[in-house]
Amino acid sequence: MLELQGIPVSPGVAIGPALVLDADGYSIPRCYVNETDVADEYHRLQQAVDDVSRSLEENRLQTSAKLGNSTGDIFAAQLQMLHDPRLAAELRRRITELQQSAPYAVSQVLHSYAAAMRRLKSTLLAERADDVIDIEKQLLHALGAVRSAPLKELTEPVIILCYNLTPSETANLDRRFVRGFCTETGGAGGHTAIVAKGMELPAVVGVGEFLDRVGQSTQVIVDGDHGRIILNPDEATLSRYRSGQEQQRIFDRTLEQLRDQPAETTDGTLVSLNANIEFPHEVAACLERGADGIGLYRTEFLYLASEQEPSEEDHYQAYSQVVRAMGDRPVVIRTLDLGADKMGHRPRADNERNPFLGLRSIRLALKNQDIFRPQLRAILRAAVHGDVRIMFPLITTLAELRQARMLLNVVGEDLREAGIECRTDIPIGMMVEVPAAVLMLDRFVKEVDFLSIGTNDLVQYTLAVDRSNESVADLYQSSDPAVLRLIEKSIYEAKKAGLPISVCGEMSSRPARALLLIGMGVRSLSVPPNALPKVKKAIRSVSIKECEEIAERAMTFESAREVDIYLADRLRALVPELLHQ
Ligand code: PEP
Ligand code: MG
Repeated sequence: MLELQGIPVSPGVAIGPALVLDADGYSIPRCYVNETDVADEYHRLQQAVDDVSRSLEENRLQTSAKLGNSTGDIFAAQLQMLHDPRLAAELRRRITELQQSAPYAVSQVLHSYAAAMRRLKSTLLAERADDVIDIEKQLLHALGAVRSAPLKELTEPVIILCYNLTPSETANLDRRFVRGFCTETGGAGGHTAIVAKGMELPAVVGVGEFLDRVGQSTQVIVDGDHGRIILNPDEATLSRYRSGQEQQRIFDRTLEQLRDQPAETTDGTLVSLNANIEFPHEVAACLERGADGIGLYRTEFLYLASEQEPSEEDHYQAYSQVVRAMGDRPVVIRTLDLGADKMGHRPRADNERNPFLGLRSIRLALKNQDIFRPQLRAILRAAVHGDVRIMFPLITTLAELRQARMLLNVVGEDLREAGIECRTDIPIGMMVEVPAAVLMLDRFVKEVDFLSIGTNDLVQYTLAVDRSNESVADLYQSSDPAVLRLIEKSIYEAKKAGLPISVCGEMSSRPARALLLIGMGVRSLSVPPNALPKVKKAIRSVSIKECEEIAERAMTFESAREVDIYLADRLRALVPELLHQ
């Protein structure tokens, strides 16, 4: 049994057999072989090396004939790498001494060579690193390892263990068979984490290197509540986790009874409790759990989950489905937030060194109006079916907001002139997720109808910490006093201007932090569907005075740690049932 610690990003416990994917999504069916199979495994590798050599030599000859010797030499260099004596010795050692399977040894050794070359930061070596990865892929192919296909063809429950999963790969996981996942990289605020929560898939990320410790058909426990992963658990651990799962089911059933109760404090202050969704099908879970509305519809996932760029009609169908299903409850449709870790169908500019500071979100939408216009048209058309509100993400300057509003006006006029049914009088809001926007909020409030604080990005940009980087995950805290001060200022400016303000970042889904936000004056929260019951339970267990006391005291601390210790203390006293939720 081996227990490893990572970052908990999506709650729940999953137990099942491991499916290990290597860094490029190749499925490595077995990482280790029996002692008696070592000789055969080594022979398999030698055959794969011969096959790849032959194909490289063919490529060299054909390319030289067509494009000249200097181009053909690319393959000559790859051949030389493939027959490098140190590489051959290391592969042999891993298979014969460590009993690694041939694909696993290939994947491990060639990836570490490529990583070492990239670390040297020379353009020439970086290109060489790509050649190394190319050889790895050819060898894996020759060894019968298949790329991604197993994820599409699953027939049994699995737990995915891999280097990384992108948000779109996560969105495309087959929920019927994938019970949970665990990755070596990734941080708490990344969109992969958010999608996992939306799919109610227990997940742990940022464990660091561990895949080489996963044996053949290892049983795994993913403990998404505590960020733990347990390989080959013993019987006692398995039964402890199984009974924990049962207790959780019982507790969840008691919370189900709150579905039709309002999110109201013990002394009658009403909080609007809404849900965040990525896909239309999540509406069912929102309704089942009594959401007051959709507080954040992350529309970019329409791009991430489909093979072709969505058309205006695709947008319209998706939005209409959500709006109709929600009846007269509000639906806040956030415009495309593509870029950074959420890439669509167009390749990212290759000179983006800091994608989170680059062409993402509203910036990308304004620069690519051929993508943005169809979405805006679809939103205005879908608005005839219910209470639709539109929200622009990552607004940093007034000029951006004005440009977005202007485009919306133009699109609305186009629709009307063409006699297409639409609504152009819908409320327009902006996300507050950049410190610059908070500092300028006294101006922004004059030009929008509502605000929503996106703490996931606000934390990232305030504390200068990449939300999906496990190495700085300990700094990524929405309870940091600097973040709390920005939230406090946002609430102050909204109140002064008489504008509704909500919090739709992940912060609001943690019960103690939700109480803190309410104490600071927030009366509207938006959380992933699976967090609705516990946040409602927290709200219904406290008075507004208790929330205000929490806020007043929390604002006096100097570090996130002090704030968290205090919040845990208050939660233990006020709603002990939720302490471990
Ligand atoms: C946020 O940044 O808090 C937010 C809600 O948006 P996203 O997580 O999609 O960036
Ligand atoms: Mg954001």
